[in-house]
Amino acid sequence: MGPLVYTPVEDIPKIHEDLRKGFRSGKTKSIAYRKEQLAGLAYMIKDNTERFQDALKADLGRPPIESDLLDISAALSEAKDAYDNVEKWAKPEKARWDFNWFAMKPTIRKEPKGVVMIIAPFNFPMLLMLGHLASAIAAGNAVLMKPSELCQATNQLIADLVPQYLDSDLYRVVNGDVPVTTKLLELRWDHILYTGGGRVAKIVCAAAAKHLTPVTTELGGKSPVIIDPKCDMKLAARRIFWGKIANAGQVCVAPDYVLIPRDAQDHFIQEVQDIYKTFYPTDPATSDSYSRIISEGHTARIKRYIDETKGEIIIGGEVDVGKKYIAPTVVKNVPFDDSLMDEEIFGPVLPIVPVKDLDEAIEVVNSRDHALSLYVFTQDPAFKAKVFDNTQSGSAVANEVVIHVGATGLPFGGIGPSGSGYHTGKYGFDVFTHHRGTLDNPGWVDTLILKGRYPPYTPEKIRNLRKAFNVSMPPRPGTKAGKRWGLWLVFALLGTISAVLMKRKRA
Ligand code: NAD
Repeated sequence: MGPLVYTPVEDIPKIHEDLRKGFRSGKTKSIAYRKEQLAGLAYMIKDNTERFQDALKADLGRPPIESDLLDISAALSEAKDAYDNVEKWAKPEKARWDFNWFAMKPTIRKEPKGVVMIIAPFNFPMLLMLGHLASAIAAGNAVLMKPSELCQATNQLIADLVPQYLDSDLYRVVNGDVPVTTKLLELRWDHILYTGGGRVAKIVCAAAAKHLTPVTTELGGKSPVIIDPKCDMKLAARRIFWGKIANAGQVCVAPDYVLIPRDAQDHFIQEVQDIYKTFYPTDPATSDSYSRIISEGHTARIKRYIDETKGEIIIGGEVDVGKKYIAPTVVKNVPFDDSLMDEEIFGPVLPIVPVKDLDEAIEVVNSRDHALSLYVFTQDPAFKAKVFDNTQSGSAVANEVVIHVGATGLPFGGIGPSGSGYHTGKYGFDVFTHHRGTLDNPGWVDTLILKGRYPPYTPEKIRNLRKAFNVSMPPRPGTKAGKRWGLWLVFALLGTISAVLMKRKRA
């Protein structure tokens, strides 16, 4: 596996132009074409699974099972979901029936936005590039992929395979670091989906603003876990600790820190220590079930948090920057103003922050940026409801961590500093789709209500138009709704008659 080959900066305008030409060719209008490309994408992943596992191992030291579960099969299932559903998703939708408008056949066409760019981070290069690519293909766009330069082997493999499996007129990969992305950002895109950190997101949004390009941001942040002292502590420890060590904590929705009542802290720690021994009976540094940090720079960043913590390290703490290794680390009695509480850790270090009670835990959560995910471990519905009802976050999950990203039918996305917009499945399709409202108004409509719109505006015309477009008001605040059964009956009757007439006309 050689190093990543960067795309020459001077080639970028031509690639951009080629994609625009490809889009204008109209090929992607055909759903059959989109399905063929989606099948190509699915086979690209399937045929090369072992190569992807090896590449991810080379980049992140990642155990193949983690690559399969969290990255490769997640990307594959996005491609298959899009393949299975693209007809349904892309079908024009009739607008809600309304007496004033139905004759004009108001319809929503699902149209591609055009030439879109996907910028991906290093931590899940398959899901966060190829999964998003599936959504963009299904929506009928031309796509420029800009993977992270940190994940060299995987992204070189993607760059090599894309032209073998997909139509190069429509789908292209550009590899490189800041100068390459800077050049890309000078150009006009019809949508940008950016996944990564908040600092770069601001650069991307500022560049996009120059062209008024819409941007979807999928960012990170500190995802908290609130623990009910009465919860199943064994289960909580097992799942939280796994969420922290999977991909060595380089997961946007990894549980970042734990909030627990002070007198329950030791119980939780005991369970974590027990589970740690079962996960890593020998040194995790020699285990083939443990990933590495992506770069020496990121390893040094996380080491700094550990070195400066005022908490007490009770598991791990060992770091080897040269080997990009950080042992699974758990720190207790971490104060709110600790080095581990400043930024998203994005590494295998779990700070435990003792609090007085649930109210204080909620206060801590609400005093910080809205998290990408918020977790609560409790078997008490009232405890769960109190957490969900009194906080904000991208997702809210009880008794589980991380895996909700893959839940079929659920949107995934942040709120505020953890991102804007949603992806996965139909939500991903919608990111790259323009919902184009259309009407087709037959001439005879002018003989009815709408004839009043043409001058001269006589009192009679004004009266009739006002009647037709009269907005029935809700009850005034503080008063009770009156019963308007008569009016409903008239509407129901009119609706039925017109539906029957329409049906007859069509027959
Ligand atoms: P990053 O922001 O450093 O890089 C992301 C992308 O931006 C890369 O492709 C990189 O080449 C590009 N980039 C870097 N500097 C740039 C610059 N100056 N100008 C233009 N482009 C630039 O992020 P990362 O370290 O690769 O990923 C980690 C972050 O991503 C974490 O914060 C994590 O929470 C977040 N993340 C979010 C999600 C999600 O779905 N919400 C998923 C995975 C990761």
